[in-house]
Amino acid sequence: MAAPDRRGEHGLVLGASIGGLLTARVLSDHFDRVTVVERDVLPTGPEHRKGVPQDRHPHVLQPGGAQAIDGLLPGILDELEAAGSVVLSEDYSRFHFDVGGHILAKSGPPKEPMTFYLQTRPFLESHIRRRVRKLPNVTLLDGHVVADLAATDGGAVTGARVIGPGGDDAVIPADLVVDAMGRAGRTPAFLARHGFGQPAEEKVVARVTYSAQLVYWPIDTLPVVVVGVDATPERPIGVSLLPQENSTAMFWLGGMVGHQPPSRFPAMVACAERFAPPDVIAALRIADPIGPTHQHRMPAARWRRYDRMKAFPEGLLAVGDAISVFNPTYGQGMSVAALQALALQRCLGKSGPALARRFFRAAAKPTATAWMLAAAGDLAYPEAAGHRDLQVKLSHRLEKPLLTASETDIEVYSRVLKVSAFVDRPSSLLSPGFLLRIVYGVLRASRDGPRERPSSSRDHQPGSPRPRTSGRAAVPEASGRQHVGVGRDVRR
Ligand SMILES: Cc1cc2nc3c(=O)[nH]c(=O)nc-3n(C[C@H](O)[C@H](O)[C@H](O)COP(=O)(O)OP(=O)(O)OC[C@H]3O[C@@H](n4cnc5c(N)ncnc54)[C@H](O)[C@@H]3O)c2cc1C
Repeated sequence: MAAPDRRGEHGLVLGASIGGLLTARVLSDHFDRVTVVERDVLPTGPEHRKGVPQDRHPHVLQPGGAQAIDGLLPGILDELEAAGSVVLSEDYSRFHFDVGGHILAKSGPPKEPMTFYLQTRPFLESHIRRRVRKLPNVTLLDGHVVADLAATDGGAVTGARVIGPGGDDAVIPADLVVDAMGRAGRTPAFLARHGFGQPAEEKVVARVTYSAQLVYWPIDTLPVVVVGVDATPERPIGVSLLPQENSTAMFWLGGMVGHQPPSRFPAMVACAERFAPPDVIAALRIADPIGPTHQHRMPAARWRRYDRMKAFPEGLLAVGDAISVFNPTYGQGMSVAALQALALQRCLGKSGPALARRFFRAAAKPTATAWMLAAAGDLAYPEAAGHRDLQVKLSHRLEKPLLTASETDIEVYSRVLKVSAFVDRPSSLLSPGFLLRIVYGVLRASRDGPRERPSSSRDHQPGSPRPRTSGRAAVPEASGRQHVGVGRDVRR
């Protein structure tokens, strides 16, 4: 393997989820060999894993994250599409997005639309894993548990202590170790033990509870294919429905600030009836569930500010959820992990000392965007605990006019969507031309009066044909492509 900027003989990645796999891809250009240590025995296909319990819940891949993954593993988006991911491009008229009580414009397409790739989490991870497995200098060492980091007396990291399936305990030496073990990451404990102190932590306590149910879903027979109705402080339960591979959809309810959504499918549908489009509810009433409903609780979002530490051990980095965990409602974690991996690629491509400092500062940029959007959302609830800084207060001020204009102006809506999708920077919302569009939108809304809601985009026959009627629990193998939307593919 060509190594344009060789950083050493061996790179070691701890954890083989999305963050770890993408990091291994980046290290493969800079180390003679790379090992990824993973506690789970890794499946060959799109199966659920114990180490990623969240994989039974919806996983939105934001277009900016999708582009980052495709940049690291060229052609993977085409592979996903060919294998059956639902690809939504060009026309947003089949989205039903209700944010903060505003139903966003459906008069697509915008001038510069984005492409969304929708699939289950195990499906996406299995495709990334298959590509990483093919890299000649990368080894996936699964069924092995990381017990600790190995270090010199001065705290420079020299490898990791790993326990094999038979209980054998050995240190794997490495020139660089990357902690990609998510929330279970070993870095904070290691830093404290070796006198580096603890990173400052930003935290927002929003006490979220998720209920998710996979269903068979007749995507081609329905006018609305993606539903996203945000929870609001007045109605702290949100709903989403995402079509996925193999004629399935993930139906989801999320309760904020301690509110519990129902945990059984019929009760979930009854709960969603109050705020989701009626044709979608009618289809859900006759949809076949696949396996049981899954619930997940997430007390708080947290960002470990390694970028602000005065000293950090040589030979160690962290990526993905080991740095930052967000309220999953906003669908950010995988995209942030991919953008952090891209940041690492840029840092390793440039020579120079203080890799950790350079990397954590570069990784903080996409993390900050995600954090700002998510914290502003969470802290709109008076019951949520966290620091309401100027940025959060400004977002709350801007939200209403922005969303009011997005109800009727597809370009305003598209620009907002691009920021939350990591395609455009938040500062793009502050250009004078854009602010003028918002003013027009608000004036139009006050002239036209309140809009009708809830809406259904066109007539639908609830008895439309269903693809299959069995109740399998496993994530189904995908069988072919599903492309929704019209015209030119705007992906590249
Ligand atoms: C309910 C829920 C819904 C979510 N929805 C979305 C979404 O819609 N969109 C989105 O982008 N993100 C979403 N996320 C976030 C997303 O799952 C993560 O951000 C993403 O998986 C990247 O995480 P990671 O690779 O850093 O860590 P993880 O996915 O947590 O993986 C850590 C890996 O390390 C392994 N590991 C842990 N400890 C050890 C050990 N001691 N030894 C060896 N291996 C170990 C684990 O087995 C696992 O494979 C959601 C999260 C939750 C909880």
